[in-house]
Order: sequence, then C-alpha cells, then structure tokens
Amino acid sequence: MALMKVLIYPDRFLRKKVDRVENVDDEIRTLLEDMAETMYAAPGVGLAGTQVGVNKRVIVVDFPVHDEDDTDESVGWAEDKDGNRLEGLLSIVNPEIKDFAKDEITWEEGCLSIPGVYEDVKRPVGVTVTGLDPSGKEIIVHAVGFPAVELQHEIDHLDGILFIDRLMPVKRRLVKKRLDKAVAEGNYPPPPSDE
Ligand code: ZN
Repeated sequence: MALMKVLIYPDRFLRKKVDRVENVDDEIRTLLEDMAETMYAAPGVGLAGTQVGVNKRVIVVDFPVHDEDDTDESVGWAEDKDGNRLEGLLSIVNPEIKDFAKDEITWEEGCLSIPGVYEDVKRPVGVTVTGLDPSGKEIIVHAVGFPAVELQHEIDHLDGILFIDRLMPVKRRLVKKRLDKAVAEGNYPPPPSDE
C-alpha cells in the first residue's frame, strides 16, 4: 500500500473526464487500496481517480457507520440491492448514477482537492448507483442523505466537475474569484491548520 499525491485546485487534470476501466485486475485493486489509504490518511470521506491523477473511473467513499441502537437516521444511509446496509469503505469501478430522487438536500461540502473551502451545495437527496466492486462483480447502491452526497461528489470528479461548480451562480463566482486570487498570489493551498 502506498499514499498517493492528491492534486490540488487549479490542477488542470481535475477538469479531465476520465476513462472507463476495461478490466478489474490486480492493478485496479492495488489502486483502490492506495486510494482508500490516501483518503483515510488525509483524512477524507471520498476520493476519485481524477484527484490522484489517474485516468480511470474509480472512486472510494467512506459511508457513515450507524450503531445498532442508533435511531438518528438524519445523516442518511446506503444499502445494496438486497437491502444490506453499506457502511464504512466502499470502492466502485465505473460508477454510474442511474436514478436521482426528486427531493433535494443541502449539505456543507469540502474536497481534498480544494482545501480550506467548505460551502453548502444543493443536490438530489437520493441516488441509485451501479458499478463494479473490486472483484469485478456488478453492484447496485441505493443511497439517501450524506452517502448520496458523497457518491454524487465523487462521480462528478470523474467528469471533471468540482463541488464549487454546483454552487449558486453568485456564490460560485465569489468562491472562484477568491480561490483564483489566492492562487495568483501564491497563497493557495493554505498551510494545514489544526482545526
Ligand atoms: Zn472532491
């Protein structure tokens, strides 16, 4: 296992629409392991191939873990097609959103590629995602709430889309202007904070 370098805004590769994976082989499995290690080390809750400079449609996400007696479902949930709850690490090859819920959720998002920026983003509250697991087997994931936000954020990365692109126009212009100014002045990325 090895830590990977996470690309930081405004790296041009983050704007690339990356390619589908043809074969889920050992190379892909090692890549997914390294991405998971990198995500947890950051620490973060999601990472896409694009963010580590790899031209492949692969993502890793860390879903919230609910205690057995946990009745607070406000953070949301994810389950497979058989209704088994999905918690913790999930790695998906060639993930595709097949269905969106009509209702929306507003969630404060951040991104390992845009350190220091946290903004409310409005997205569909639920998604159904298909793809392949690390053994190459087809999977279907139903997600509502935060896990649905995670999946949409990471799958966006595979199409070169960043969460700041999803902000309301006025906010989006403001955030990008502030970011690009910091980049131009050599003040971005900001030094790591202890917060
Ligand atoms: Zn991100």
